[in-house]
Amino acid sequence: MPEVLKAPLVVEFPFTRSLGPVQSAFLTGLRERVVLGVRTGDGRVLVPPVEYDPVTAEEIRDLVEVAPTGTVTTWAWNHAPRRGQPLTTPFAWALVRLDGADTALLHALDAPGPDTVHTGMRVRVRWAAERTGAITDIACFEPYDGPPGEPARHTGAFADPVTGIVAAARLDYTYAPGRAQTAYINALTGRRTVGERCPACRKVYVPPRGACPTCGVATSEQVEVGPRGTVTTFCIVNIKAKNLDIAVPYVYAHIALDGADLALHGRIGGIPYDEVRMGLRVEPVWTEGARYPDHYRPTGEPDADYDTYKELL
Ligand SMILES: [Zn+2]
Repeated sequence: MPEVLKAPLVVEFPFTRSLGPVQSAFLTGLRERVVLGVRTGDGRVLVPPVEYDPVTAEEIRDLVEVAPTGTVTTWAWNHAPRRGQPLTTPFAWALVRLDGADTALLHALDAPGPDTVHTGMRVRVRWAAERTGAITDIACFEPYDGPPGEPARHTGAFADPVTGIVAAARLDYTYAPGRAQTAYINALTGRRTVGERCPACRKVYVPPRGACPTCGVATSEQVEVGPRGTVTTFCIVNIKAKNLDIAVPYVYAHIALDGADLALHGRIGGIPYDEVRMGLRVEPVWTEGARYPDHYRPTGEPDADYDTYKELL
């Protein structure tokens, strides 16, 4: 069997969120080296603070300051920090109950090794040198054997509160398409399209996913389909996408390749956008070095009869 493909894949986008009164106060406090919690109706102090009591659902707004020192309630050692994590050297993820709080805050604990960390150990906040009003204003926790710290005792509201944050959501992983899609991708390098036939219902799926979505059984029989096909449905794209150098309007279509029981999609070119129609016969157009057809163009054949593709809509 040929080697199964894999490739690095990064999905990343900035996520902008507003904070609301409690998170705004919490993050603004961190900027000023003050850790704030909220006091619930029955007197518990929650850090990090929340807007509603998790037990009674009552709205809570009673902000209280806690100390920058605390106790590890549980922890796990991180042998291999990843990009974007608080420290670049191995560290502990720890839940720390700050002095004056009843709940624990998750953050990094900078310690020489896992044998130096234990539940119950005393730690304190190490503040970031530059603070912007984010959880990263706490650079990490560090071991501490002094007396409990004092709250910073700020008075009144902070000037210029932080009201929103931009959090970079990022997924950075290795994608392995599996046996069936590996065969599909490898065939495309030879400008051939290969699907797989279900042994039960005999339908041919392109691209193949290694199992029939209807019958739930594994597929293995490979079937070459196309290269020609039929437009089953389509849409007209009027909005120019960022980083996509295609003049609008253009047509994006579902195309049932001859021999396939599932439509794939592609752009339709070589015909005015308002002349594209269901049943239009098309063929792929390749550009040099591309792994996929650039677009599909009309073959000039008569349109396909509706009955030949109505099951594929
Ligand atoms: Zn099937």
